[in-house]
Amino acid sequence: MAISSYTDTQLLINGEWCDAASGKTLDVVNPATGQPIGTVAHAGIADLDRALAAAQRGFETWRKVPANERAAIMRKAAGLVRTRAADIARLMTLEQGKPLGEARVEVLSAADIIEWFADEGRRVYGRVVPPRNLSVQQLVLKEPIGPVAAFTPWNFPVNQVVRKLSAALACGCSFLVKAPEETPASPAALLQAFVEAGVPAGVVGLVFGDPAEISSYLIPHPVIRKVTFTGSTPVGKQLAALAGSHMKRATMELGGHAPVIIAEDADVALAVKAAGAAKFRNAGQVCISPTRFLVHNSIREEFAAALVKHAESLKLGDGLTEGTSIGPLANARRLTAMSKVLDDARKTGATVATGGERIGSEGNFFAPTVLTNVSLEADVFNNEPFGPIAAIRGFDKLEEAIAEANRLPFGLAGYAYTKSFSNVHMLSQQMEVGMLWINQPATPWPEMPFGGVKDSGYGSEGGPEAMEAYLVTKSVSVTAA
Ligand code: NAD
Repeated sequence: MAISSYTDTQLLINGEWCDAASGKTLDVVNPATGQPIGTVAHAGIADLDRALAAAQRGFETWRKVPANERAAIMRKAAGLVRTRAADIARLMTLEQGKPLGEARVEVLSAADIIEWFADEGRRVYGRVVPPRNLSVQQLVLKEPIGPVAAFTPWNFPVNQVVRKLSAALACGCSFLVKAPEETPASPAALLQAFVEAGVPAGVVGLVFGDPAEISSYLIPHPVIRKVTFTGSTPVGKQLAALAGSHMKRATMELGGHAPVIIAEDADVALAVKAAGAAKFRNAGQVCISPTRFLVHNSIREEFAAALVKHAESLKLGDGLTEGTSIGPLANARRLTAMSKVLDDARKTGATVATGGERIGSEGNFFAPTVLTNVSLEADVFNNEPFGPIAAIRGFDKLEEAIAEANRLPFGLAGYAYTKSFSNVHMLSQQMEVGMLWINQPATPWPEMPFGGVKDSGYGSEGGPEAMEAYLVTKSVSVTAA
């Protein structure tokens, strides 16, 4: 299947692409132009009922497929995704805005993630436990939990689906995802690869519609045994509460507000290069984006000047245009959010060292922004900006910086730059985050756990921990009759 231009997106139910029973659709808009480029089907309850019944049947089939055969199908899907990377990336840039190169990396890393989980599925081992009576055999079995309901956001339309999908399928679960209405075509292309690779009907399903209506119907539904969500902390708390009240296992991948601690002995050039690139990737709409830059006062001005230079070197534009290094924000809500953050920062005394404003009147372009002298009370230092804004404050002692890093209720990613082993030791022990990267940019490889603590959620989307989320444990004791 070659993807030549932007396509309207349908629902995937029982292995077939279909319109919503009502025929209802939503427009999809290109954030670089503000123009509609296609539509996405809007599922109603009748569609959800069909998708749930298919997920139940799909689970009954898939759980009986041996792990090595499941792995072979998943590897085939990964191959298709890799072959189609350029086409899928183009769809993503058109609907989400990120530069084509970034979209391509996201799609290729999706293939890598599928392969890693495919292999991990072959190593879901139980245990044999020594019995107290030798006529007894004690077994611990690991079984797939059942049909999964997943909810994913628009910032990484493929990556946010593929981590959940790959772990679920590798464990033998079926998977029904409500992907983002604003960026539907690239996740649909991902699921199409699984359909073509030969997953049986109902094993993967895809719906779009009203997020609240869909989650409030799927989460309590008896077919669904596991819930997984990536998005904002307020929505995550609502969905976790709903899952809890129906005793459904949940993984919550929520917002962060990543501190970057740049110690007195840091390699400033490395910190600017690595943290600067990470800050403005995907126009800052990344849950692990560096957001609170805490810089030792002896190097604060040097660091700020270099980060401003980096921000000013970025080429803002349509993600499809050659040479673009930062695209538009993914939707108009983010433009409004950025203006509010900037108004508040100015009011609370921050200096706008560069950027700070919308660019042009078409599309959602916002200048890469660096703020200095930011007050601790400023909104940007308390709520995740989720945009291309770096906020800098100074510190004198590392202990102060760690206390500031841990001050907020979030605990997803953290970063630090230092050459001292004792600093590394202190940071590793004291930072309240799920992921800490020191002297390097984020490397969220599938083999490493990915997840947060505190208000950033619970559960992991990487490493063997990600598999555990889709498995239940059964203890079996047998006495020879
Ligand atoms: P939002 O909080 O309304 O939505 C966030 C995501 O949750 C979207 O994908 C949305 O479709 C989904 N969602 C919303 N209500 C839902 C519900 N009741 N049931 C199921 N899904 C629901 O706001 P938004 O404007 O889309 O994004 C704003 C904020 O969300 C950002 O500031 C950021 O903090 C957070 N966000 C986080 C991530 C992440 O990777 N953790 C991704 C996207 C957005």
